[in-house]
Amino acid sequence: MTTTVHAYASPSADEDLVPTTIERREVGPHDVLIEIKYAGICHSDIHTVRGEWGPQAYPLVPGHEIAGVVAKIGSEVTKHAVGDRVGVGCMVNSCGNCRNCKAGDEQYCLNGMVGTYGATDRDGTITQGGYSTHVVVTEDFVLRIPEGIDLDVAAPLLCAGITTYSPLSRWGAGPGKKVAVVGLGGLGHMAVKIAHAMGAEVTVLSQSLKKREDGLRLGADHYYATSDEATFTELAGSFDLIINTVSAPIDVSAFLGLVTVGGAMVNVGAPAEPLPVNAMALIGGRRSFAGSMIGGIPETQQMLDFCAEHGIGAEIEVISADKINDAYERVLASDVRYRFVIDTATLS
Ligand code: NAP
Ligand code: ZN
Repeated sequence: MTTTVHAYASPSADEDLVPTTIERREVGPHDVLIEIKYAGICHSDIHTVRGEWGPQAYPLVPGHEIAGVVAKIGSEVTKHAVGDRVGVGCMVNSCGNCRNCKAGDEQYCLNGMVGTYGATDRDGTITQGGYSTHVVVTEDFVLRIPEGIDLDVAAPLLCAGITTYSPLSRWGAGPGKKVAVVGLGGLGHMAVKIAHAMGAEVTVLSQSLKKREDGLRLGADHYYATSDEATFTELAGSFDLIINTVSAPIDVSAFLGLVTVGGAMVNVGAPAEPLPVNAMALIGGRRSFAGSMIGGIPETQQMLDFCAEHGIGAEIEVISADKINDAYERVLASDVRYRFVIDTATLS
């Protein structure tokens, strides 16, 4: 028997989201029923529902930054118990057998990971995301939220947190390393907090100096405006690692000029348009230009534990469901400080 739950859905690529109800599957032997308390709004939700990343099956309920409490478990579940504080990020399943899944890189599953919304699930249904009161997820894709992180500030860690933690950790952000973060939005502000906690010297490269005080308070050591041409001469060749979180195309070659010899620029921002790169900007400093998508399940748990240990949560603005469309407009206007989080109690 399925359960009918309240949600907010996008009816089409060019309409506002509206209240609705959706069906959640019966809790199977390996499933966990989660009562969602908070759901973050990621810029990817906007790219997706507006069809920027390709056609979607509508109505579509977005949301892949889910924090809640376990309400019911299946007969075979061993990892979670009723009452546990848990989270779900961008994936709800993968094949579990390919070399990437076996390596804990389920996001790169060779048979296709199942996205939390808008993806074809193993039973053939289309997944629906976290802007809803409940979700049923197989236990392996449910994360523990450690004591010490409130659920509202934990929700954004499930995407913005892991998406920045993973490349920072892989490319060695730490003491003695200079890290720049391009764009101080949802992902960018998490990158600043995490890179600072890892011990790196952190610089924010934002469009303007409007959010400078915030950036420094979040853990940045320096803050520059990319609208100022002098930034690119002053900082030339100075960063070991640049994390680009911008949701729109930027001049990658200009930013590569800020990378030290042998350093890297890693793109997590995911605009639909191609990002042209001048080969000379790579050759002229043995530089790398790379990409990174969220992180695997083991690394996501590691990130949550790291955040708990360092007292890191997201900076959030909690909104009621009827403000979702306004929040989208504010995200698009770079007017987010620094993640909108939906209080799901306002969905019903
Ligand atoms: P966000 O909150 O909107 O932040 C993006 C920031 O980029 C803005 O706050 C702004 O920062 C800057 N920006 C926006 N438009 C710009 C422009 N035209 N030129 C220069 N800078 C601009 O978005 P988000 O939720 O952090 O997501 C950022 C991107 O990452 C999106 O494309 C999203 O889809 C993608 N994403 C990727 C992954 C992954 O796995 N790789 C995971 C999640 C999200 P300033 O005001 O400081 O300039
Ligand atoms: Zn996201």
